[in-house]
Amino acid sequence: MDLVTKLATNRILSSEEFQNLLLTDDITLRTQLFRCAQKISALNFHNKIYIRGLIEFTNHCQRDCFYCGLRCSNKRADRYRLSKEQILECCKIGYTLGFRTFVLQGGEDHFFTDNIMCDIISTIKSTYKDCAITLAMGERTLSSYKMFYDAGADRYLMRHETADSLHYSRLHPPSYSLDARKNSLYSLKEMGYQVGTGFMVGSPYQLTEYFASDLEFIKKLDPAMVDIGPFIPNKDTPFRHQEAGSLEETLRLLAVLRLMLPRALITSAANLANLHPNGLQHGILSGANEIMFNLSPAHIRTKSFLHDKIAAAQEEMEENLRFLNAQMKSVGYELCVDRGDYVTTAISSKP
Ligand code: SF4
Repeated sequence: MDLVTKLATNRILSSEEFQNLLLTDDITLRTQLFRCAQKISALNFHNKIYIRGLIEFTNHCQRDCFYCGLRCSNKRADRYRLSKEQILECCKIGYTLGFRTFVLQGGEDHFFTDNIMCDIISTIKSTYKDCAITLAMGERTLSSYKMFYDAGADRYLMRHETADSLHYSRLHPPSYSLDARKNSLYSLKEMGYQVGTGFMVGSPYQLTEYFASDLEFIKKLDPAMVDIGPFIPNKDTPFRHQEAGSLEETLRLLAVLRLMLPRALITSAANLANLHPNGLQHGILSGANEIMFNLSPAHIRTKSFLHDKIAAAQEEMEENLRFLNAQMKSVGYELCVDRGDYVTTAISSKP
């Protein structure tokens, strides 16, 4: 049995087989991998691409990950925090445009205490009862996760970044723990969240065997969402001179993930467009089925936004949405603004 058929049938390969599949030069096998990913995606989601309203509510972060422009050591970052009113304004515009999932994404910013977050989450949930809330705000305590869940959060997205502990230690300061991160993900899932994780592709010091560890961890966690994307060097970090991850490798991993997790909500990462003008579409054609759409562009963060720029911001987003829809239509897909919850029963994983 070839490796693509084997993966689609068993939904897992050995570490060596994963590496062989990721490194193969066999054009037929590569083509088969992408065709199979598309087919499984179509069987489970038809031609629908879920779109999520992304609200980047803070870029303050107390952490210092070596690869990230938001790291606390970066004194050049232009920091901001959205007020509760600004966040609600983003939701209002998003809801008007049809969005039914809001993703509250930020650095690890403890300005947003548990009580502040719970107030924001519960206000959004009581105002937009048919919407889901995804949190992507890094590691917190178990009691914080529980408070956010009880306040109405539905999903929690937290990339593990790499499942290899040596690699993890080369991307982060020594006090950060991969085990703690993995344990958080397991706990979040146990609490009832739809959990998402993921990793960077092409990050410094990464070896192909590390991808096998990532895939094995993801298989074990069995997340509702997966978010992977190429490493893009940030000029204000210690990795500024490192090479970016590759489009081809990211797409191959997306296709492998689709074969492993037929029903998972897999993101076509926005930064694929940094590597290719049609990067987002390539992600979709490799088996991804969701896209993040920014409801908090830079000018929304200005203090005067609430008073005089709402109509202009909404118009700009409508235009961006039309453009995105046209991009998806050009490859045979259409945007879908439903909540798009994770449904566990797979319709099919067969190639
Ligand atoms: S915790 Fe997240 S936002 Fe903060 S530095 Fe690390 S990667 Fe960046």
